Formats: sequence, C-alpha cells, structure tokens
Amino acid sequence: MSDVSSSELRVLMARVPSVDKVMASAEFAPLIGEYGRTQVLNALRDALDAWRISAQSGDAAANPALSALDTPQLHAAVAAALLARNASRLRSVFNLTGTVLHTNLGRALLPDESVRAVIGALTQPANLEFDLATGTRGDRDDLIDDLICELTGAEAATVVNNNAAAVLLTLSALAAKKEVVVSRGELVEIGGAFRIPDIMSRAGAKLREVGTTNRTHLQDYEQAINARTALLMKVHASNYAISGFTKEVGIDEIAPLAHARGLALAVDLGSGTLVDLAEWGLPREPTVRETVVAGADVVTFSGDKLLGGPQAGLIVGRRDLIAKIKKHPLKRALRVGKLTLAALEPVLQLYRAPEKLTERLTTLRLLTRPAEDIHGAAQRVLPALQQAIGPRYTVAAEPMVSQIGSGALPVDVLPSYGLVVRMADGKRGGRHLLALEKQLREMARPVLGRIADDALRLDLRCLEAADEAQLIAQLSAQPQSN
Ligand SMILES: *Cc1c(COP(=O)(O)O)cnc(C)c1O
Repeated sequence: MSDVSSSELRVLMARVPSVDKVMASAEFAPLIGEYGRTQVLNALRDALDAWRISAQSGDAAANPALSALDTPQLHAAVAAALLARNASRLRSVFNLTGTVLHTNLGRALLPDESVRAVIGALTQPANLEFDLATGTRGDRDDLIDDLICELTGAEAATVVNNNAAAVLLTLSALAAKKEVVVSRGELVEIGGAFRIPDIMSRAGAKLREVGTTNRTHLQDYEQAINARTALLMKVHASNYAISGFTKEVGIDEIAPLAHARGLALAVDLGSGTLVDLAEWGLPREPTVRETVVAGADVVTFSGDKLLGGPQAGLIVGRRDLIAKIKKHPLKRALRVGKLTLAALEPVLQLYRAPEKLTERLTTLRLLTRPAEDIHGAAQRVLPALQQAIGPRYTVAAEPMVSQIGSGALPVDVLPSYGLVVRMADGKRGGRHLLALEKQLREMARPVLGRIADDALRLDLRCLEAADEAQLIAQLSAQPQSN
C-alpha cells in the first residue's frame, strides 16, 4: 500500500464537502429530525475522520470510493452508524436451548395480564405508596402482601429485588453479629456470584457449619446451638444432588428444635413453587405453604423461577420477623419498583385458579407442553430451516429432553421435540456446526440452540404459535445458502 502524497491528499480533501454544507443539505434534514443535531454532527465528524485516515494511508486512485466522497455517500455512512448506535442492546431472541427458565435469557416469561399491568404502571400514576382508603401515605408492600399470605399460609410477607437480596436482607436483619447454623451439605453456590458462605459474611453473620457433605443429623444442629446463635437455616440444594449414603434433617424436625431453644428457622427455598408440580408430572418441589406449615419461621424464594413472575425475592413468615426485616435499612436499598409489583400481582392472582394455571401461566404452560404439540411445530419449521441453511446440512425432527432450569435439577422429565442439524455428508460437524450456530445467533432475532453430539439441536418447547410464525418468516427471508 503506497502512501498518498501530500498534494494528492490536498486534492482529495478539497473535494470533501464542508461539515456545515452537509448538515444543511436536504439529505441530512430527516436524520437531524430523527436523531437530533448533536448526534448527527458527531456521527458526521466520525465518518469524515475515518475517511481522512483511510485517504492518508490508501491509494486514492485505486479506490474510487475515496475520490468520490460526496453528500449521498456521507449520508449512507452516517445513517448506518446512527441506526447501529441507537439499536437496543437488549434484544428478543428465540430460546431454543431446551432450558425453559434460562437465567441468561431472562428466566420466566410473563402472562398478558402482567404485560397490561406494567404498561399501566409505566404510563399512568399509581397508588404505589398511597392508601386510597384513608388518603394518606401507604406502604408498597401493602399492595401485595395479603395475596402472598393467602397463597402461602404465612402471617406476613415482603418483596425485594431478587432472592439473593431476600437472603441477604433476612440474614442482616435477623442474624448480624450472631451465628447461623447451616448443614455442610447445603453450602451451595448458585450461578457463580451467589454463595451461601459469602452472603452470610456480607450480612455480618457468622456461619456455623454442621454435619458433613453427605450426612447431617439433628444432633449436629443441637450441639452447635449456643448463646451466640441467632438462626438455624436450611438451603435448597437447587442445582446439585447428593445421592448414596446421605442424611438430611427435615424442616419438621429442625423447627421444633429451633423453637424449643427460642430460635427461628430460616429456609431459602430457591425456586419456591406455590403449587405441587407433581400434579402435572413434573418433579416434586417443596411448596412454600408446606414449608411454612412444617414450621419454618422465614422462607425466601425467587419471583422469576418456578413462580413464573418478574425478577423478585419474596420473604414470607412470622409477623414479628417480617416486621424486623422491613425495618432494616437494607430493605430500602433492596426494595422493588412499581414495575415489579405491577407484574407480580397478576401472576399471583392466577394461582387462585390452579386448575387454569397450565393454560394461563406461561412458565407452567411451557413446562407442561405436550411433546406431540412440539412435534407439530418441529415439522412446520423444518422446511424453512433446511431451506435457509442449505444442502450442506440435513435437518431432522427428533425427540429430545428439555430442562426446567434455574436451579431445578437437570432430570430427564420433559420429553420434547426439536430440530437436529447434522452435516449432510455424515462427517463430524466441527467448525461447520460452529459457523451455523453463529449464523443463527446473528440473525435479526437471534436463534439460540446448543451443540451436542456432533449436531446443532434446536428444542422447540419454548416456541409458541406467534414465535413459530416469526421464526419461519425470518428463516424464509434468508437468502438461500449453498
Ligand atoms: C436461585 C437461588 C437463589 C438466588 O435467587 P435469585 O432470585 O436468582 O437472586 C438463592 N438461593 C437458592 C437456593 C436458589 O436456588
């Protein structure tokens, strides 16, 4: 590459229209109307700088684009830059990973009732902290705590930003500078940043580990209790299982021990379902109500896992303990906003009609979706996918198994269907499958599957009707690959 001589460069520069002239041009008026003067001017200067740099290093004669920089060309560059810059970074994707409650993809999808409530809360003033009966200041928890108590059997409830916050706040309010007794089998890490021992020390509480990894007995808890003990705590193992020679002490055994010593029992349920999932053939999870009935004094659980609501942490339990939790200064820092409350209330209301849940609650509808139904979707999407990715690959509709996700055990209980892409020549896919995975991930609405056993697998469980139509349209609009 030859450097441009200074005289050539001067000639080139002289051909570039002035910034003022470009900004005043008819082509630029709509851009300024849409993005405002400041942004357009900055983008224009960036485009001119980029042009100058390439003009200085490149051979202008060999690059007609450089010698013909004009207003239409600048317009195209600036419009593209502004469009890319202003595109939302948070984008809708197709979750074809087979994991329904996918933490990296935003967990639970919410029902229409929540969507409508959120729009209302976004665009109109609401009685967030205003008591309409008395005309005086209210408490945002009052909007929803009766409903949570009704569904869980607890005396009192409060809501914070997520379950990690719920655990942090509970420990801070009830156990600062004191000891909390936890089984060594329950010192879990949930997705990297949430580890029980770390949360404990952040809350200013001292972890008192008891038992062993595989076996903990009631007497282990009993022997650990001393004058500094504030709480006994149980943590749902969520994402791992200990099997074989094991022993865990149930809430119904620990609670009487705690109460006989004048202590409280806190339970971190993690997913915390409000209904018995076994009714629909899903793995049994302890419900919040059972946990309260078994004697837990405080129970914490997530809003956006099996509950199927927005990101939130729910804390339920004894009235005096919830009052103490609500008075702690951290509560103010961890509280939820109106959008969360607006989205959560309709979800909780759906639980009043449990027989309708698999129809109305998106999470449960997806978890219980029949495999035949998913098979139908696979057959309809198959031709569009095959057409879009070309004859180098073969697409087949095959049975597969979905996961619940978000701390529910990875057990094979969700028979599903999906599209499996392999190399047409029968060879191992390697980099070709990686390239295909990337191609799908880079579509206007990214398509996310997973590569396993030399195939790209797209589980269609989470592809409901409207999304199915959109996916087929997107694939059909692709230029045919070959
Ligand atoms: C998921 C989970 C958490 C964290 O909940 P978030 O709502 O993600 O903050 C805490 N404890 C247990 C046992 C969990 O499963």
